[in-house]
Amino acid sequence: MDMNEYYDVIVIGGGTAGVVAAVQSGRAGAKTLLVEKTGMLGGTTTTGGVNFPGLFHAWGRQVIAGIGWELVTRCVAETGKTLPDFANYQRPHWQLQIRVNRFVYAALCDEAVVDAGVDIIFHTMLADVKPQAEGHGWQVTLCTKNGPTEQVAVVVIDTTGDANAADLAGFSMHIPDENQPATLSCQASGYDLVDLDIDAINRAFDAEVRAGRLANSALRIQATCMATGQAAGAMAALSASTGVDPEALPIADVHALLREHGAILPGDNPISVEPSHT
Ligand SMILES: Cc1cc2nc3c(=O)[nH]c(=O)nc-3n(C[C@H](O)[C@H](O)[C@H](O)COP(=O)(O)OP(=O)(O)OC[C@H]3O[C@@H](n4cnc5c(N)ncnc54)[C@H](O)[C@@H]3O)c2cc1C
Repeated sequence: MDMNEYYDVIVIGGGTAGVVAAVQSGRAGAKTLLVEKTGMLGGTTTTGGVNFPGLFHAWGRQVIAGIGWELVTRCVAETGKTLPDFANYQRPHWQLQIRVNRFVYAALCDEAVVDAGVDIIFHTMLADVKPQAEGHGWQVTLCTKNGPTEQVAVVVIDTTGDANAADLAGFSMHIPDENQPATLSCQASGYDLVDLDIDAINRAFDAEVRAGRLANSALRIQATCMATGQAAGAMAALSASTGVDPEALPIADVHALLREHGAILPGDNPISVEPSHT
């Protein structure tokens, strides 16, 4: 990586989402740089010790696939393990998560990123990101082991987990007064699903979330982080190649690119929930 090198896409943070974003961007033909502050890819899935990604399935049917699924299932195969039986979905959700060997997973991330033609820089933190003075794109200042360096990108993807890049770029942040509460796992029984007023339960849940007594954080699990990372990588690559802002891209083009790279899109695999009478 040279000073003032030009990239189509710079991905800040080589974690759960960032690796997938960078691989997707590289596979779509964008000149891509992946910046990671530690010496290992995978983020929370590897260095964070949460090496049991979930949930790619809902009610026994696969709803998330693509590059994250490819990495996770390759890791399972490489280590001679087996996947959980997803058809047996009435077990606790953690039994449907996929245990991966962190070191093999990180090595597979390295391989996928390099094979996608992506440059990686480890032990490097984002120092600043600002719009270019002329033209569109972003000036990215990185703090490497050898000192600061300047790079230019058409699109920057923030997969730091903490919105570091968005914050430094001056976007408004929503910082809650309290940290997210711990997850509470509980089991309810003694009722018949058909007798429940689901709308009333949802209204009560929403009221508790609004009152700050419950947090709805189910969207931030590893499979969804990987899927949104892949979507970000696809949009960034398309934006860089067409000159159209990411939010103005025709959604059909984004879907087509994602499908080409193995993703499942809304409507591809519809779920129907049948009330249980047992
Ligand atoms: C204790 C715990 C238990 C969990 N349990 C589950 C579970 O059972 N199942 C499940 O699916 N999910 C679980 N999750 C949630 C899931 O792990 C995370 O939501 C997900 O991994 C976050 O992915 P991410 O890519 O946003 O962030 P991360 O995977 O954390 O990646 C962020 C990356 O960015 C790098 N980075 C950060 N700042 C900078 C910077 N300024 N410059 C350069 N690099 C930077 C970091 O080093 C890291 O590699 C759990 C999370 C935790 C913490």
